[in-house]
Amino acid sequence: MLVVGVIIEYAANSLNRPFSYAYFGNESIVPGIRVLVPFGRNKIVGYVVSVTETNDTIEEWEKNTGFKMKEIISIIDLKPILNEELVELAKDVSSYYLAPLISVYQTMLPPSLKPKKSSLSKPKIAYDQYVQVITEDEDGLTPKQLELFRRLKCEDLVLKSSLKTTLIPSLLEKNKIRIVLKEKNRLEQEEVALVKDNELNIEQQKALDSILYENHSVYLLEGVTGSGKTEVYLQASKKMIENGKSVLMLVPEISLTVQMVRRFKSRFSNIAILHSDLTPSEKYDEYRRIARGEVKIVVGARSAIFAPLSNIGLIIIDEEHVESYKQETTPYYHALKVATFRAKYNEGMKIVLGSATPSLETKSRALKGVYHQLYLTKRFNDSCLPKVEIIDMLDYKNIDTDSVLFSRRLREEINDRLSKKEQILLLLNRRGFAPNVTCRKCAFTFKCPSCGIPLTYHKSDRLLKCHHCGYVAKMVDKCPKCGGESKFLSMTGIGTEKIEKEIERLFPNAKTLRLDSDIATVRTSVPRIISAFEKEEADILIGTQMIAKGHDFKNVTLVGIVLADIGLNIPSFRAGERTFNLLTQAIGRAGRHEKEGTAIIQTYLPNNYIIRNAASQDYNKFFNEEMHIRKEGQYPPYTYCTLLKLSSKNEKEVIEAALKFKQLFIAKFANLQVDVIGPSEPFIVRQDGKYRRIIMLKYKKMEDVYNVLQEVVSLVNENNKIDIKINVDPYEDY
Ligand code: ADP
Ligand code: ZN
Ligand code: ZN
Repeated sequence: MLVVGVIIEYAANSLNRPFSYAYFGNESIVPGIRVLVPFGRNKIVGYVVSVTETNDTIEEWEKNTGFKMKEIISIIDLKPILNEELVELAKDVSSYYLAPLISVYQTMLPPSLKPKKSSLSKPKIAYDQYVQVITEDEDGLTPKQLELFRRLKCEDLVLKSSLKTTLIPSLLEKNKIRIVLKEKNRLEQEEVALVKDNELNIEQQKALDSILYENHSVYLLEGVTGSGKTEVYLQASKKMIENGKSVLMLVPEISLTVQMVRRFKSRFSNIAILHSDLTPSEKYDEYRRIARGEVKIVVGARSAIFAPLSNIGLIIIDEEHVESYKQETTPYYHALKVATFRAKYNEGMKIVLGSATPSLETKSRALKGVYHQLYLTKRFNDSCLPKVEIIDMLDYKNIDTDSVLFSRRLREEINDRLSKKEQILLLLNRRGFAPNVTCRKCAFTFKCPSCGIPLTYHKSDRLLKCHHCGYVAKMVDKCPKCGGESKFLSMTGIGTEKIEKEIERLFPNAKTLRLDSDIATVRTSVPRIISAFEKEEADILIGTQMIAKGHDFKNVTLVGIVLADIGLNIPSFRAGERTFNLLTQAIGRAGRHEKEGTAIIQTYLPNNYIIRNAASQDYNKFFNEEMHIRKEGQYPPYTYCTLLKLSSKNEKEVIEAALKFKQLFIAKFANLQVDVIGPSEPFIVRQDGKYRRIIMLKYKKMEDVYNVLQEVVSLVNENNKIDIKINVDPYEDY
């Protein structure tokens, strides 16, 4: 019989090892294919990792090993679903992030190919029918049939559905033609006219030459929006393709893939697109096109880093500082880390990181010479930077007597732009109407039953929503605790809906649009709102960070940041960096074209260094000051971190487990440079109703903690009452 090593679809650390199954069938079974296997009382999907032949019977094998042996039910694939590079890459990712191997395979593959039971009901290959002439012989045809036959003869293959005729069956019957099936590509791509490359300026040329001909593995291409980074990506890609290599272009968000795809299609007609907004069929078809080598350029979001391209010459990560490149669920990978792993299997592969505000990690590596630094300092469109004013909202002289939300200055400027028919963006990075509903009689606060954080009131649908887990409840008229009437329920804090209401009150004639993730729950709403605003169908666009990113609104000359402090109070060492990025982005939306732009920042922290540096658009000053703070606290990039997340239905158990881990760490790390912080109760107190504790490890070298973390993973196996997740290089830390 054959003994087949199978890793099963359950992505748990405790099951992260091959299970042995017997196979007696006569189909070919090789590592890398999916099989259906019994597991406990279920039939599930497994991924074959080894096949060995033995002369033992099942009984003998069970006696020798002491394990029970079951049989494989059926084979799913004819060929391995991953190429050799991806098989090895998965091992690297699984080992660095201490993640179950199967979870990496599941992340790498499109829904139809995932080693997971759900894949079995996902789309299969679709075919198009083509008509092909198979003879020169025109005998025996009626005049009408002959007319069609002669037309078909001029072509190699004709799509059957494109023929408006009922004559096909008779031509088939007379053996003049046959039907050829070809795999269909269900993703319809927009047609884009090809344009010529731009002639590069000196800095761009220098950057391009360095990427192509110098011998560095990672480059940081630092330049503000409009400085021509994309042009460099395009021309570097072209050269790579000419040299027979392939190219992977990553963008941080789906909404930005559309623009990037358009830019790439204007130079290369054949590109593949991979992101989570494609349907399963589209993903499957694109994936196979790439795997077959039919396309050499892939544009996509985070998980496209696993695209089955071979012979990669270049991986570009645009807006590298954006956090969406890190997945914050198992496997907790970062696309840049995966890119560096891929370099091992693609000789000479280059990585280019592009940003106007590089992450602190990236910038400090560039300063140390680990990454090669390239600059683009000139803008192509001669738009100048906007004028920025900081308004101190604690100073009563600045506050509008008629509104607590708007300062006099912001209100004046809004009035001014409305009268000039210029457009306005108002940013407030919090959706909903009020982030807190409290009873003034008994101090009861509405909280999410599953996360324990305050619920936000959404006025438009009269609902209370949890912004963490999506829990929703109807707003009630009485306090659930003391029965106090609705007049006692006070709504504090502000959200985008409140701004919208306030604008309606103060500027009844202004047309407004709102954009936040409440609105984005309907797939088509975001492009609809963006395009309506572009077409100047509204005067004011109110929104969360969604309005700050990437969009190029020509007539916007005023950006108002209603409260810049949101985000700064979050207990994360990254809070400052996040806020700086958001504010600089938002300010950059003002006056991107001929007219001069103004940005007004309302804040209670007018002297805060983040707000000051964002206002002066001074990345270097921000970098130096923030690095100083990171150094004081010994946070990345001065150290590396790993976050241990524990949760359990039983609060006492999770506290005890956390203390045990703490002791284990203290003992193991006694002589090493490793800091153990916590256990502490995280900001999101509960997850899926389970109580949580976190422990943060800070260290200089991964080697110092790796073995201990592996030990933790094996402890997890024994203790299944506590759910343990390990996030290496986390972005969540609170
Ligand atoms: P970034 O990616 O840094 O935002 P882009 O590459 O999109 O910058 O360039 C900004 C604008 O300038 C685009 O419209 C682009 O077509 C144009 N551009 C870029 N490089 C050149 C060049 N060398 N000559 C002329 N126009 C250019
Ligand atoms: Zn009450
Ligand atoms: Zn919740």
